Amino acid sequence: MQVTYDHTDTIGKNIHRFWFRPPPTIDYIAGQFIELHLPHPNPDERGIKHWFTLSSSPTEELLFITTKFTPEKSSTFKLTLKDLRPGTKVTMVEPEGDFVLPNDANQALIFVAGGIGITPYRSMIKWLQDTQQKRAIQLLYAVNDLDQAVFLDLFKEYGVDLTTIVKQPPADYVGETGSLDAKRILGLIGELNNKLVYVSGPEPMVEQFNDDLQALGVPPSQLKTDFFPNYTSI
Ligand SMILES: Cc1cc2nc3c(=O)[nH]c(=O)nc-3n(C[C@H](O)[C@H](O)[C@H](O)COP(=O)(O)OP(=O)(O)OC[C@H]3O[C@@H](n4cnc5c(N)ncnc54)[C@H](O)[C@@H]3O)c2cc1C
Repeated sequence: MQVTYDHTDTIGKNIHRFWFRPPPTIDYIAGQFIELHLPHPNPDERGIKHWFTLSSSPTEELLFITTKFTPEKSSTFKLTLKDLRPGTKVTMVEPEGDFVLPNDANQALIFVAGGIGITPYRSMIKWLQDTQQKRAIQLLYAVNDLDQAVFLDLFKEYGVDLTTIVKQPPADYVGETGSLDAKRILGLIGELNNKLVYVSGPEPMVEQFNDDLQALGVPPSQLKTDFFPNYTSI
């Protein structure tokens, strides 16, 4: 499908949202991802196509993706994204993916996010809020710096049970600090019971949590994962 680039805004340190106007026929489920094509001269080995979760909700008029920049090591793709001019038409492959909410509205949910892995949860929670559905959600959100924790207002407004774990906290920070790991996740969850645990973030983190949570007794049927390649850490 063709979408029209609209505008960009900055919501955290090196974290930007890119907004696009979709065709009227757009149809997606909160949490799904797209493939964005940005042909450009002399692309590096990371190429002209990237996957991004739609962090917008299907209830919103525009689509947006949220991404983190590593300014000194940006791919040519990200540099092209940053230079888009409003009104430019670009190709997005139709939304897909099953990292979405379960149909059962009574299912207790644990959302674990590492850094930019927060994007699918923003979409799901905004969709729940806009469609007036109340679900029990505990969100464990690991970030490097406090100014990389995004969408917090929405999460608080919706009533998510939110724990932010800050790796490099300011000196006066009150709250959870350090790194998140599987043991700590289980400690923060309390009784697992039949809770469904979603994990989203950089590929190495998601793989590690997936293996370690299973080793600690979480059945694969209670785990859902979504990993973002090319990011090595949160
Ligand atoms: C289903 C799915 C959903 C996704 N959703 C999102 C999303 O919502 N938001 C998002 O930001 N990303 C998302 N991604 C990941 C996205 O597709 C990109 O892989 C990611 O944004 C990194 O982009 P980039 O390679 O342009 O690197 P950049 O962002 O420009 O750089 C990121 C890091 O890559 C390192 N790096 C990796 N490979 C190289 C290399 N060959 N040369 C130099 N440096 C390198 C750099 O050191 C740097 O730290 C998703 C991926 C999948 C599969």
